[in-house]
Amino acid sequence: MFDKFWSLVSLDIGIDLGTVNTLVLIKDKGIVIREPSVVALHRKSKQIVAIGTEAKRMLGRTPFAIEAIRPLRGGVISDFDCTEAMLKAFIHKVHQTGNRRSFKIPKPRVVVGIPSGVTEVERRAVQDAVLSAGARACYLIEEPMAAAIGAGLPVEDPEGNLIVDIGGGTTEIAVISMGGAVIIKSLRVAGDEMDQDIVNYMKMRYGMLIGEKTAENVKIEIGSAYPLKIEKETVVRGRDLATGLPKSLKISSTEIREALMGTINQMIGALNDVLEQTPPELISDILERGIVVAGGGALLRGLDKKIADETKMPVYIADDPLTTVVRGCGKVLENLDLLSKIKVTGGLR
Ligand code: ADP
Ligand code: MG
Repeated sequence: MFDKFWSLVSLDIGIDLGTVNTLVLIKDKGIVIREPSVVALHRKSKQIVAIGTEAKRMLGRTPFAIEAIRPLRGGVISDFDCTEAMLKAFIHKVHQTGNRRSFKIPKPRVVVGIPSGVTEVERRAVQDAVLSAGARACYLIEEPMAAAIGAGLPVEDPEGNLIVDIGGGTTEIAVISMGGAVIIKSLRVAGDEMDQDIVNYMKMRYGMLIGEKTAENVKIEIGSAYPLKIEKETVVRGRDLATGLPKSLKISSTEIREALMGTINQMIGALNDVLEQTPPELISDILERGIVVAGGGALLRGLDKKIADETKMPVYIADDPLTTVVRGCGKVLENLDLLSKIKVTGGLR
């Protein structure tokens, strides 16, 4: 009875600290925060003005005195202080209900999924930030492991699982077996690079300047990795480089696919490298089970077909790929046994 009471009032929190999006989940409750990993601050005083959704609205639109930054842009923590402020703000947001009560709520246990390219020093910084935000314990798991767990792969089995997580800043590829990554590769090429490809394409082909946000919208609207049954079109708005005047153009999905192909081929090249290094026993497991793709990049039309074509392996897109990592963190909170079986850093303060 008492245990039940505590499990009702204590908060166990899972966090997906992504390069584009940060998601927060409360055990037994589900996802409570889904916001962009963006911080807006005063250029001079470095004082934080906004975090998350509110800060993202300011990206590329800020007056000179304010800058909006993405502290994890390349899959490494480029700005410690901002990452810390962001984590604290999100943790306080979900924990604040507790602080208002008269009795003291036990401090939360937190599991954070982080890009695998994050260095030892940066890991410690994330942990310190989480602990100083009031957590009782903080465990870090690498994103591909969290994604594999979130996708329901049997990571503890002595069999091979191949997970690809395509986020904004990084593509993470891992072969997981017996609770650990046998091979792990983090490529600094993913969704952001695709947006950049579209910006470059519009500039080179049409002499037109478009913003990153516009490029991302075009990618989501008509982007693809494999020929579509019915090709799509959309109108793109930007500025003519020659005249400096606003310009709008109709663009086809075929053109956008051509623009994205270099980046997609780089990702597939990395995947093939991993497959080449994978021990034969594990390859045969993967051939049987297929490659699982998670992360927002998995939503690109036809990416599964393209990867299947190039690797000759079956490919599956994880359910709701944008939430796979945070749901994986949630599963770890539900089954703390898993924590002792998979490779994690951290623990009690
Ligand atoms: P991260 O884990 O790095 O925060 P996410 O897994 O949240 O990244 O994925 C964000 C990336 O997914 C962005 O680059 C975004 O443009 C891309 N994305 C989201 N939806 C789609 C879609 N429908 N088609 C293609 N890319 C998408
Ligand atoms: Mg991610």
